[in-house]
Amino acid sequence: MAEGTPAGGMLWNMNQPLTVEQIRQAPKVLLHDHLDGGLRPETVVELAQASGYTGLPTYDPVELGNWFREASDSGSLERYLETFAHTTAVMQTREALVRVAAECAEDLAADGVVYVESRYAPEQHLEGGLSLEEVVEAVQEGLELGEKRAAEQGNPIRTGQLVTAMRHAARSSEIAELAVRYRDAGVSGFDIAGAEAGNPPTRHLDAFEYLRRENFHFTIHAGEAFGLPSIWEALQWCGCDRLGHGVRIVDDIDHDGNGAQVLGRLAQYVRDKRVPLEMCPSSNVQTGAAPSIAEHPIGMLRDLRFRVTVNTDNRLQSGTSLSGEFAKLSEAFGYGWDDLQWFTVNAMKSAFLSFDERLALINGTIKPGYARLKWATER
Ligand SMILES: [Zn+2]
Repeated sequence: MAEGTPAGGMLWNMNQPLTVEQIRQAPKVLLHDHLDGGLRPETVVELAQASGYTGLPTYDPVELGNWFREASDSGSLERYLETFAHTTAVMQTREALVRVAAECAEDLAADGVVYVESRYAPEQHLEGGLSLEEVVEAVQEGLELGEKRAAEQGNPIRTGQLVTAMRHAARSSEIAELAVRYRDAGVSGFDIAGAEAGNPPTRHLDAFEYLRRENFHFTIHAGEAFGLPSIWEALQWCGCDRLGHGVRIVDDIDHDGNGAQVLGRLAQYVRDKRVPLEMCPSSNVQTGAAPSIAEHPIGMLRDLRFRVTVNTDNRLQSGTSLSGEFAKLSEAFGYGWDDLQWFTVNAMKSAFLSFDERLALINGTIKPGYARLKWATER
């Protein structure tokens, strides 16, 4: 079957979307996952009790998990971001960061993720007296511990850190230097996050110019709550390697009289240059960046063959997993194994990892993994 056509043939039945359990067996790659958005509810409760944090709305893990989802369903990015006050509050000690990072790697590995770039903002973990360096080192210790435990459980995973600066703050140059300092000790790249409106990426131009001079990699949250100008600045002024979300690129895609899509210059550039889009379907629906999964622009962008990747953003707030996101897309768009492989190879090609290591994961893990699943489904 030609690449780019909908998955079809005998291996795929539109009436039977792939289930979470099936998708969990598939090797997957996750580029956009926030460490402070992926805690287990019971870990939030236990860490709050251990540290004396009294701000949680409930100390029952099941109720707390539901509360996070409901608070995030408000349709506003600003309200959604408020939920992070609780998770970051319990991540202020070395022990807490090690535990959260280790569980993150373990949970993703159990979900079939074989490569993850986990992001968080070190500047948000200094209230317990840690230095920026101690935060990065604690997260690294946790990720390595999680990798080790996952390997022992038969679910090998490779991890990297994306060090994030908050876009409303003024520490991005300092954080960019921190990221580069740890480039050979677990940090794969840099990112800016936080409320997009009023905080355009060019506010942090010094940091991005420094990163480019250092031949370092970075992604920018852009085109989520705010539209095309944010995407344009992130790409053409700041020079980012990838777009965090980038969902609003559809604002630059029109239709002609015959229903065919017409790409504007920016959309054309994004597609021609194979700029990776880190799309997060459930999160986009929760923050109002997309009306529903079925109406999420990912369907059109995949058909137009943009470099689309599928991500979780915040597993706790969205009550999801990467397998869960793919299952929702399979149901909405009829995606089968070929589509999942296409998204996964897209993500691996876009990872902040050396070319030879990306190739090794694509040819040694991802393609054989999907071949096995397709063979099993065929029988
Ligand atoms: Zn994000």
